[in-house]
Amino acid sequence: MLTETAAERVDCVVIGAGVVGLAIARHLAVTAGREVVVLEAEGAIGTGISSRNSEVIHAGMYYPAGSLKARLCVAGNAMLRDFAASRGVPFRMAGKLIVATDEAEAAQLDSILDKGRVNGVEGLRAISGAEARALEPELNCVKALLSPATGIIDSHALMLALRGDAEERGAAIAFHAPVTGGRCAENGILIQAGGAEPMTLLARSVVVAAGLSSPGVAASLGLRDVPPAFLCKGNYFGLTGKTPFSRLVYPVPVAAGLGVHFTLDLGGQGRFGPDVEWIDREDYVVDPRRGDSFYAAIRRYWPGLKDGALEPAYAGIRPKIQAPDQPARDFVIHGPAETGAAGVAALYGIESPGLTSCLAIARHVGELLG
Ligand SMILES: Cc1cc2nc3c(=O)[nH]c(=O)nc-3n(C[C@H](O)[C@H](O)[C@H](O)COP(=O)(O)OP(=O)(O)OC[C@H]3O[C@@H](n4cnc5c(N)ncnc54)[C@H](O)[C@@H]3O)c2cc1C
Repeated sequence: MLTETAAERVDCVVIGAGVVGLAIARHLAVTAGREVVVLEAEGAIGTGISSRNSEVIHAGMYYPAGSLKARLCVAGNAMLRDFAASRGVPFRMAGKLIVATDEAEAAQLDSILDKGRVNGVEGLRAISGAEARALEPELNCVKALLSPATGIIDSHALMLALRGDAEERGAAIAFHAPVTGGRCAENGILIQAGGAEPMTLLARSVVVAAGLSSPGVAASLGLRDVPPAFLCKGNYFGLTGKTPFSRLVYPVPVAAGLGVHFTLDLGGQGRFGPDVEWIDREDYVVDPRRGDSFYAAIRRYWPGLKDGALEPAYAGIRPKIQAPDQPARDFVIHGPAETGAAGVAALYGIESPGLTSCLAIARHVGELLG
């Protein structure tokens, strides 16, 4: 039984040092002036979802109006660009084309454009196939949306900058400190962390930002209304040879993902992905056979893709909170009213656009905690 007497007292505990946990730790330390301890299971920051994604600064046109994804992505886009510019985090607003290769897909573009307008996406507009080809000559499409507010960012440099700000304001990160359980006690929340040097903390506020493990961690703390956890892998294939496009190129979205799209890294290297593969346990190996379906999907909008030009790169896992056959869910961010515990917030299903939204999510969590 965990007891308060043996526990070390701290103000705030953030569980998880991915981009979201670090942004929250920074917000609580810098903006709210609070004492923060981050508990991280691994030996470094950002080894989870935050280092296995597309590193795209999304503009926010895909998400239902009024949803957390829409609001936090649009706000987060602007906050992230300001933060990155002021802190020397490498990023580039490369722009993006969402392309329709037939009339049925063109109708989907119209609904994305409408959503983008309602969500307040900056500068989004429809262009003809000919206009798109004038921008990107290798493209095959009948119509496209051009999004100037989409870019790419160095996610590791971003996390280092967030960590730097938080630590400068006194936040501490304990590595190799996996949270194994806890409970609400009379004077706060008791948190137990394992690892080589197990510890018990008594915190006034706790934020669960443990990515794929958030539902499990929240359940181990006895929080209310914890959603189920599902894993949806996204595999990437790198492009050997010359990069065909100077902008990001996306097909119309598919169920559970944005479609096999083309992104660039800041070094100018092109890659395709992520696809959608529902899995039962964490596994980051990219099966080269999945490349077959990539060729077909990519050639719809880039017929010039040569046989053998793709090679397996890496995979990330989306922290889904709905089963494969269920409709897409919004981010779920519970404050004390929903977790049923004073001072406790928990974040679930922080898939894309979580990287883009991290600073806006942090501000939202700060508001929920008062
Ligand atoms: C394939 C893919 C592509 C994506 N592309 C984009 C994109 O282009 N743009 C965008 O905006 N978003 C994108 N995202 C989403 C974005 O990457 C995530 O929303 C974001 O990285 C989530 O960060 P996080 O801090 O919540 O999770 P994580 O980075 O996973 O961090 C959680 C941390 O918690 C730690 N942890 C777990 N359990 C415990 C425990 N018991 N105790 C202590 N610590 C624990 C983990 O070790 C980890 O470090 C993508 C996601 C995926 C999967």
